[in-house]
Amino acid sequence: MEEKIKIFVVEDEIIAAESLTCDLQQLGYEVVGKTNSAEKAIEKIQQLQPDLVLLHIKIGGNEDGIELARELNKIFPIPIVYLTAYADSDTLQRAMKTSPYGYIVKPYKKQDLAATISIALQKYQEIRRLKTQLTVQQERLNFLSKYDEVTQLPNQLSLVENFNAILEVFYQQVDQSNPDEDIFPQLIPIFYITLTNLPLLRNNLGTEFTNLVLKAVVNRFKSIIIKESVLVRLDDDDFALLSPPVATKQVALDFAEHFIKEMAPPFLVNGREIYVDFQMGISFYPLHGENIDELLYKAKEAIQDLAERGQNCYQVYSPVFHKYDSLRLKLESDLHHALEKKQLEIHYQPLVEIGTNKIIGAEALLRWNHPQEKYISPDIFIPLAEDIGLIESINNWLLHKTCQQFQVFRKQFSPQLLLFVNLSVRQLYDDSLENKILKAITHNYLSPAALVLEISERALVKHTPQAAKKLKKLKSLGFQIAIDDFGTGYSSLGYLGNIDFDILKIDQCFVRNIDKNQRNQTITRYLIQMAHQLRLKVAAEGVENEPELAFLYKNNCDYYQGYLFSRPLPPEEFEELLTMHF
Ligand code: C2E
Ligand code: MG
Ligand code: MG
Repeated sequence: MEEKIKIFVVEDEIIAAESLTCDLQQLGYEVVGKTNSAEKAIEKIQQLQPDLVLLHIKIGGNEDGIELARELNKIFPIPIVYLTAYADSDTLQRAMKTSPYGYIVKPYKKQDLAATISIALQKYQEIRRLKTQLTVQQERLNFLSKYDEVTQLPNQLSLVENFNAILEVFYQQVDQSNPDEDIFPQLIPIFYITLTNLPLLRNNLGTEFTNLVLKAVVNRFKSIIIKESVLVRLDDDDFALLSPPVATKQVALDFAEHFIKEMAPPFLVNGREIYVDFQMGISFYPLHGENIDELLYKAKEAIQDLAERGQNCYQVYSPVFHKYDSLRLKLESDLHHALEKKQLEIHYQPLVEIGTNKIIGAEALLRWNHPQEKYISPDIFIPLAEDIGLIESINNWLLHKTCQQFQVFRKQFSPQLLLFVNLSVRQLYDDSLENKILKAITHNYLSPAALVLEISERALVKHTPQAAKKLKKLKSLGFQIAIDDFGTGYSSLGYLGNIDFDILKIDQCFVRNIDKNQRNQTITRYLIQMAHQLRLKVAAEGVENEPELAFLYKNNCDYYQGYLFSRPLPPEEFEELLTMHF
């Protein structure tokens, strides 16, 4: 016999309750219980596990029914259908806030009662089904977001977690050691391994074949390392190896030597002999950094030192002196005069809302018209300006100029237009930074909310605590803060929790060919979800074609910036663009 649908009735009038029960039974339902008190209802419903609750809004003359529904919603999911003789619109509105599954006004027709109950049950089933589906998807995404699909290794999003596990072992050992001895009897070595000839291989033999090589390489890695270490795929051809604590640096260097020897023989892939070259950089916790981002950054820096020394060797991080070549010296002295000689210009690149294709603002990007060198990228002259202490004055000039221009643009085109300005990490140490920015905006009658200050993730890698303090201060003054180039550091989602960012800008490296690159798809999808959970807006950088944009649209990315919509433009051309757009 088919099991009957079980209904629980909460109704304070005895006669009404009886007649309702009678109707329900005639309609083929089983009334498993009824009560006239809100207090008893919860206990009985929990005990009897009905499929649906029919609940009178007024119990004992009060609106206890709504309160009871609220309580029930908190405790367990169950469809609730309200009953009422009359209710004013205020009460109805309050009732609606408890998301009921139906609503019946007395006197009702029996067939309406049946229809309301059956619709409520269907709706409930559908919501249940969607919820389970979502949980399954979320779990799969959680897994995928922490693992690389080609090699099945953990990916960079799992770095912090894995490193923390090793730190735990480290501090257990420190605690057990003799306090009279060295403070740190142990070190944690971090190895950064980059496979140097893989790009060449990919170009010549294709991605599929290269993925097979990668798998073979990873298998060999695994046979070399001890099982307590964690191997992480960072980027296409870059890996991090987090080792358990070692007693001396020498242990790590011996391992590096062993690694080189084991990696020397060729790999046999589809009948071909392939030699894989690599370079390895090493840093040590706690000598070279406090967190995994900083340690990896240093280990990678050590590799840059290796560049001229060739392949298949390693280098331990050491603070390096900058090599001053003659061009750098010349540029340095030229840069000192660039401002006064009016060689610096500001270009604007629009940021566009993906859903509506509306320009929401623009990023100010510096250009240097050097009289002899044709084009010098800001990626070269900005770090130079930082090194020689010019960035503060350049930025100050830029702030005044852009605020002035935006005051006009906002009046002319849209009062919501946002101005995005890049900050250097050096400026976060400038005590008067807030005052300088405030001066620039008040001078031009802009509110702090008109300005979005961008700070690159890479900058935070090295300077978290101080940077965080300054950013919090700027935030409290009403400026919006964006984390720029997310993905060029180590994509630590930790930053997002620590500082109250408004916008996350996903770096071009994830966006490039995202429609074809599974790894980047997974990471980007996860980043967007995480950012949205933390109530950040997400902007994608460097969008160059429609398929890239289509992927971002499908995955709810909020804004984009890139050549597809517009290159960075000189102010006059940007103004023309705004004229056409608004
Ligand atoms: P950013 O802040 O991430 O700026 C975005 C960069 O991506 C710009 O490079 C822009 O021209 C480029 N870009 C935009 N769309 C596309 C695209 O579709 N494809 C490609 N391939 N590239 C695209 P740019 O102008 O060379 O600037 C490089 C970096 O220099 C900036 O990166 C920013 O970090 C720094 N920078 C520029 N102006 C300033 C400034 O005033 N202050 C500071 N501190 N840094 C600045
Ligand atoms: Mg930027
Ligand atoms: Mg950027």
